[in-house]
Amino acid sequence: MFAALSDKLDLVFKKLRGQGVMTEDNVKDALREVRLALLEADVNFKVVKDFIEKVRTRAVGTEVLQSLAPGQQVIKIVHDELVLLMGGGEDNSLDLAAKPPVAIMLVGLQGAGKTTSCGKLAKYLKAQRKKPLLVPADVYRPAAIEQLKVLGRQLDIEVFDSLATQKPLDICREALRYATLNGFDVIIYDTAGRHQIDDYLMEELEGIRDELAPREILFVADAMTGQEAVNVAQGFNDRLGITGVVLTKLDGDAKGGAALSIKAVTGKPVKFVGLGEKLDALDVFHADRLVSRILG
Ligand code: GDP
Repeated sequence: MFAALSDKLDLVFKKLRGQGVMTEDNVKDALREVRLALLEADVNFKVVKDFIEKVRTRAVGTEVLQSLAPGQQVIKIVHDELVLLMGGGEDNSLDLAAKPPVAIMLVGLQGAGKTTSCGKLAKYLKAQRKKPLLVPADVYRPAAIEQLKVLGRQLDIEVFDSLATQKPLDICREALRYATLNGFDVIIYDTAGRHQIDDYLMEELEGIRDELAPREILFVADAMTGQEAVNVAQGFNDRLGITGVVLTKLDGDAKGGAALSIKAVTGKPVKFVGLGEKLDALDVFHADRLVSRILG
């Protein structure tokens, strides 16, 4: 995961570790390399700038420079600031504290991994002794309805019987009624995607959001698309007010830009990461664990 970034930071840290005495210039040189490594990993330019400034301010203090192992201290500051950048230290767990059935809406572009993530999320909730109902509402891609039904069968989790001829808003209303009558705790809505953001889709999603009052609106972002994923997340957040992000395909050779900037740009945390196509390949996101993996 994020191999190129890891290798580059490893080189910077190797040099730092050996430094028994440090000056402001040494810190500056090291941070220039960290900055380049982050930019090459496709991290948003402004996010990198703010990040480096924060680290620099903390690292050039006399307490650090005059400490016994200043290089080590600078490494620790980079580590801690990376964790903070990704929302570490905050409670980013799924918020289901409402009268059941609690609605979760998954949104995002086509191919990002929405339908797969719906299945994974349902499995995760079932393991927590919840009773989830999967609701396919992507009527423009009829295969998506069938795909969710197949996932439901594999997981032994009920999938609402939507038809591609129905309006998404009608599906949602009926599903909500059905879930209430049948004692479901959570409703997971798989919404339609597009290849890019368009007004029509946003209006439809706004309508569904207003009808359902979902507790969570999770934007599903494909980590492989880097900063593009961050820009699209921002677009969805502006229109819908997302509550968090599911970052998929972290098992691939993504550079890391999306993971590192999405919280800073949108203000919304990554809540889950997708680590493969299989239904158990979903992890609750922990910023500190990811940073430890990047920094080795
Ligand atoms: P949707 O159009 O957003 O509903 O996307 P899908 O759920 O159909 O996923 C698109 C493709 O991405 C499928 O081939 C999935 O198996 C794959 N996929 C989804 N999540 C992950 C993931 O975390 N890792 C990998 N490697 N593939 C994923």
